[in-house]
Order: sequence, then structure tokens, then C-alpha cells
Amino acid sequence: MEPTQNSDQTQPDVMGDDGALPVADKALRRLPVAELHLHIEGTLQPELIFELAERNGMELPYAGLEELRGLYEFTDLQSFLDLYYANMAVLQSEQDFADMTRAYLARAANAGVRHAEIMMDPQAHLARGIPLETCVNGVASALATSVEEFGISTLLIAAFLRDLSEESALEVLEELLAMNAPIAAIGLDSAEVGNPPAKFERLFARAREAGLRLTAHAGEEGPASYILEALDILGVERIDHGIRCMEDPELVERLVEDRIPLTVCPLSNVRLRAVDTLADHPLPAMLAAGLNVSVNSDDPAYFGGYVDDNFVQLNAVFELSEFDQARLAANSIHSSFASEERKAELLDELNGS
Ligand SMILES: [Zn+2]
Repeated sequence: MEPTQNSDQTQPDVMGDDGALPVADKALRRLPVAELHLHIEGTLQPELIFELAERNGMELPYAGLEELRGLYEFTDLQSFLDLYYANMAVLQSEQDFADMTRAYLARAANAGVRHAEIMMDPQAHLARGIPLETCVNGVASALATSVEEFGISTLLIAAFLRDLSEESALEVLEELLAMNAPIAAIGLDSAEVGNPPAKFERLFARAREAGLRLTAHAGEEGPASYILEALDILGVERIDHGIRCMEDPELVERLVEDRIPLTVCPLSNVRLRAVDTLADHPLPAMLAAGLNVSVNSDDPAYFGGYVDDNFVQLNAVFELSEFDQARLAANSIHSSFASEERKAELLDELNGS
């Protein structure tokens, strides 16, 4: 299936004859979930990129929206990352970061998201000369009013770029701790192959010592052994992506037994060619194996859809049973870093839905 460029548009192949959404899809789009794998910089829609460029008096190297949208055909993770980092240039002020975050929350509220654990890439902004305070305070200011404005509880995750050195990550983590940044966890993202988790052993040890929760991308493009490293060397509680665990039956057994959460992002995997088509996605096999998987959007502006789009497109291809839909939603809630009280609220909402 070819994802559309504009993720706000309903996919034509899931619409009824009259253009209205089938009842089942409407319900699916309202499934109360926690979104656990979301990069806030990956929510920058082309329209907002142009708006922020104008606000900041910047010339974009694209003639218009259509040209920019045309660049969203990626061949692999690196080709996506090149555009992702280039577009970040429009984020200059706290207001820019806040506006981007608020736009995500508004869209996520319509996608059934009730709790969001949002990653941001501080190093990517520091490299552009944007102070840590600007990006952290900008995102945090939007998160501070998220419950009352959007009904979404949130947590902020500082994600570190694995293609940079561990020294750089440690330096930024210390600065975040020193400024008492409102982060609940750290993550590890960006170019995976050639940057194994073991490279960041000291970073994760320091974060654990500081009382932060731990997650890392592993087994997206990288091998199943990276998942093992993330668990055994970094001590992460959660694996972002993790789809390549399916190549190692022993690892699958362990992940099932330990209920390790895997935050899977189906549309992202298709767009970045980790799988050829959605029909080739291992999600059904992962569910059948008893793995603790959830559905997430990763970088929704770039990958053709928010969490509800992921659910609807998965359902169009695999016809998820109501049991599996509820299981995916419950997994996302159980696997979150939210308080037990918040998890109970969300599970009540799910069970009543
Ligand atoms: Zn990701």
C-alpha cells in the first residue's frame, strides 16, 4: 500500500462508497491508546514548516508545499533523516517548539491518544545553535497544558543521537539534569546500523542513576543482536521498533516471557523500507507470538499517518480482531511510564469503550 502524502486525509481505500468512514474505522480511530514512540520533530507538517519559515524570515530551498511533499519518498532511514534534520531549521524560538507540540497534541487527541510519551532530540537543536532551554521550555510549555486542552497526559523523553559520540550525549544529559529539565526518560535514536547500543553504556548508567526511565531504538534496521545489547548492556525497559527480533526465536521467547514492550511503527517501517509493504509487516506474527507490541506513529508527518491512520491501515490489510485491537491498546497503556493511577484510568476508558 502506498501511504498518502497528507496524513490528515483519510486513505481512499478505507472509505465507504459514499466517502464516509465505515463505522468500524470510526471506532478504531477513537480507540483510547498511549502513544509511546513519537518524535516531536517528526510531527512537523509541511504547512507548519512554511509558516514557521515565514515567521522567522527564512528562505526555504523549496518552491512550495508540493515540492516539499514530493521529497517525502524515502529509500531508507538515512534518506529520511537528511530531510528530517534539514526541516528542523525552521524551529528557532520557544514559540516555534510550542506550536509544533500543540499541533501534534491536537491531532493526536483526534487519533484516540490519551497519553503520549514524546521524544525530542536536544542534540539536533544544539548543533544548530539553538539553546537547550529554547527547545526544552518550548515543548514543555505546550505539554504543561495538554491535559486540560487535549485530555492527553504526557511525558518528555530526551532522545540521544546514536551517530554522535557518547561524550556528546553525556554532556547534554548533564546539562539537562543541571537545568532540572522536565524529562522522565531517555531514548536512543537516529542512524542505527553501525551504532550499536553498547556504545552508550555509560550514558544509560548515568540516566538510571539519575532516576530516569530507559528506552532505546533497536532492531529497526539493525540486527536482533542490538535488541539484546539494549536489554543487557543498557538495561532498557522498552524497545522502540524491535521488529527484527522475529529473526531470533530465542530472543522472541525471552521478550514474551519478560513482557518487554516493543513500540512498533508499521507505517514508518513501510515508508523507510524496513518492510516492502504493510502486508509484509510482522505485526500479526508478533501478536501471534505473544509479544507485548503496541502501535505508534514514530514521525507521523513524514510517514503517512498518525496512530489512528496506522490502526486503520493495519485493519484494512490484516482485519484485526476486536480482541487484537483491544490488546494493542491495552499493551500501549501497560507499557507506558505513566503512574499506576493514570494507567488504571486509561484501562477503564478502554474497557468501557
Ligand atoms: Zn523512532
